[in-house]
Formats: sequence, C-alpha cells, structure tokens
Amino acid sequence: MKESVSLSRYTTLGTGGPARWFDTPESVDELVERLAWAEAEGLPVAVVGLGSNLLVADEGFPGVVLKLGGELARAEAVEGTLVAGGGAPLAVCLHRARAAELGGIEFTCAIPGTVGGGVWMNAGAYGGDIAGVLRRALVADASGVRWRTPAELGLRYRTSALRHGQVVASAEIALEPRPLPEIRETVAGMQARRKAAQPTNKRTFGSVFKNPEHELTAGRMLEACGLRGFVSGGAQISPKHANFIENAGGASSTDAIALVSEARRRAFEQFGVVLQPEVQLLGRLEIPALDTER
Ligand SMILES: Cc1cc2nc3c(=O)[nH]c(=O)nc-3n(C[C@H](O)[C@H](O)[C@H](O)COP(=O)(O)OP(=O)(O)OC[C@H]3O[C@@H](n4cnc5c(N)ncnc54)[C@H](O)[C@@H]3O)c2cc1C
Repeated sequence: MKESVSLSRYTTLGTGGPARWFDTPESVDELVERLAWAEAEGLPVAVVGLGSNLLVADEGFPGVVLKLGGELARAEAVEGTLVAGGGAPLAVCLHRARAAELGGIEFTCAIPGTVGGGVWMNAGAYGGDIAGVLRRALVADASGVRWRTPAELGLRYRTSALRHGQVVASAEIALEPRPLPEIRETVAGMQARRKAAQPTNKRTFGSVFKNPEHELTAGRMLEACGLRGFVSGGAQISPKHANFIENAGGASSTDAIALVSEARRRAFEQFGVVLQPEVQLLGRLEIPALDTER
C-alpha cells in the first residue's frame, strides 16, 4: 500500500489530488484482503479503471484507491465467452475477441475504459451496452466474492446498483462467431463516426451529462445554450461537442465543476431540463443544486 499517490495521472482529464492510500491488487485474494483492511480501518474505498469517466477532487480522496492489476487485468476468449478481469481495458477485450473471430462487443471500440468501469457505468455506444452482453460478474467486497447476474447488478442507462466498496473483480461476456472482415468494418465505421463528432484527440472524461428525455441530446442542448468553447480556468467546453469538457492546459477539477454547474444552470433556464451528470465524482466535489432541486 502506497501513501499519498496523485490521481491526476490515473484520469483521462488529468486532474485530481492524491489518494491517501493507493494499491494495485493482482488477484481476487489480494483484492478482498485490501477491502477488508479498509473496512477494518474505517476508510472509504474506490476503484479507478482507466479514469475515463472520473473527476477527482483537487484535494484528493481521503481513503483507499485500488487499481486492479495482474490476473485482475487480463482477458481471454474461451469458447465463445470473453473471460476478463475487472481491470482489463475494453480495447484489450475487443482485440482478444477479434483475434478469435468472435463478435458482439464491437461497440466497445468507442469506450476507453475497463471491464469494471464498463459494468459500473453500464457503458454503451451505437446501440450496444454492457447489459446486453454481460453473462455475469464476480463482485468482491470486504467479506468475499459472489457472482452476480446483470439483473442483480441493476444495470440501467449509464448506471448500476453497485456502490463503492463493491468491486468488479472479473466478468464473463457473451460473444458470437463473426468473420474478421465484418468485425473490422463495423469497428472502422464506429471509429470514423466518433472521430467526426467528438474531440478524440483531447483530454476529456467522455460525456459530461446523460442524455435527457428530450428531443435534443445533452450535447445539442448545450450547443443551443451557446456553450461551445466556454472556458473556466484551464477547462473548456469542447468547441467540437458541447457535452465534453476538455483540459485546455492546466485545468483543475474545480474548473471542470464550474463548467458542469454553468451548463446545468443554462440548460434549465433555456429548456427547463435538469441535466444529470454521467461523470463520476470522487472525493469532496459538489455540483451546486439548481433552485428546483432544493
Ligand atoms: C473520449 C471518451 C469517449 C467515451 N465514450 C463513451 C461511450 O461512448 N459510452 C460510454 O458509456 N462511455 C464513454 N466514455 C466514458 C467512459 O469511457 C466509460 O464510462 C467507461 O466505462 C469508464 O471506465 P473506466 O474503467 O475508465 O472507469 P473509471 O472512469 O476509472 O471509473 C468510473 C466509475 O467506475 C468505477 N469502477 C471502475 N472500475 C471498477 C471496478 N473494477 N469495480 C467497480 N467499480 C469500478 C469507479 O469507481 C468509478 O465510479 C468515454 C470517455 C472518453 C474519455
């Protein structure tokens, strides 16, 4: 266990302060042991995947942050099933599936996270999501591990019923035979659409807000509010896609929160819509409530 490790290099936005304790368990036993230690010490626990949907407080996190490594970050395709550790990058999973001429998770080519982060968020794109392909996930907590079905995980639009202290140690994902050229073509098409619409070469944390139940997506709504390119400190609402915040150089998480807050205020003023953040917050970070939420 290391002390006071900066989390800014573990987030794609590149902001955030230190974790009081940081460790990289490499097996299920090590993971459960760390979770039990944290519980005994009365410390909060969080996991970082690839930090691609994470905003960490500038003052850091006063607990234990775990990053899964070793066997908890491996993936292999076994007889039509992808068996992956919670810390395995989705890109590695897609690579393994493709090498075995197995399809079904092509949509993950657009998602720069891990299997565990994908389950926590029920990540999805282009009509596919984790709920649609997950057979079961092995969830660890301070008392041990248990397999859970998608229904038990409570997977819904960009959310699950998992809580901090519950860690996806591994997962089994259903794949289906698919010729390599078809997989390649699907992936290339999705990646081209992504590149055309989103700031793929900037430091961001993906979509800031979930899409509301409205004819406009969150991005279109914020664009109509005139927020493209809006700046707070070193953070900027992407000039390319208004539902993304970019680190334009020297951004802090406080800068990003100021943009989140301004975007919610304007969307409510102009459309009467209360936008819900998709980004996950770690540490003492607060998005100010709108008058209607008080
Ligand atoms: C350029 C870009 C494009 C993106 N496009 C999409 C998209 O199309 N669709 C989409 O859904 N998302 C998208 N995202 C967001 C992000 O990639 C996903 O939400 C992804 O699932 C997060 O995975 P992660 O491993 O990076 O999780 P992190 O960001 O590290 O963590 C997110 C949450 O998951 C929890 N978590 C992480 N690992 C575990 C684990 N093993 N067990 C339990 N909890 C865990 C964390 O504690 C945290 O609460 C995009 C992000 C970027 C930067």
